Amino acid sequence: MANRWGIPKNVEIFVRARDLQCVYCGVVFSNENADRKTKPSWEHIINDIRLNDVDNIALCCISCNASKGAKPLVDWLQSAYCRNKGITTACVSDVVQAAIINPPRLKH
Ligand SMILES: [Zn+2]
Repeated sequence: MANRWGIPKNVEIFVRARDLQCVYCGVVFSNENADRKTKPSWEHIINDIRLNDVDNIALCCISCNASKGAKPLVDWLQSAYCRNKGITTACVSDVVQAAIINPPRLKH
């Protein structure tokens, strides 16, 4: 079973429990849908929708998601958006740091 983003249910449950803050900028998510800034969105850390495991699926805020778009993670981390927000490889969440060091790959 997968949710409407193609993410397996067990992965969704795990990630929802793990990522209580944006994995990039660290904004704390709120359950109130009123504030767009604190609304979580589904993110593929490495931009490959086939990589659907907990090492590549994360929750980030809408503004980080919109800024990152289809850019490769390491390139995006050099962007003006990240510079302005103080987002660096050292302050992103553990799952993102792990993906920088050892990018998730398709398992054969
Ligand atoms: Zn963010």
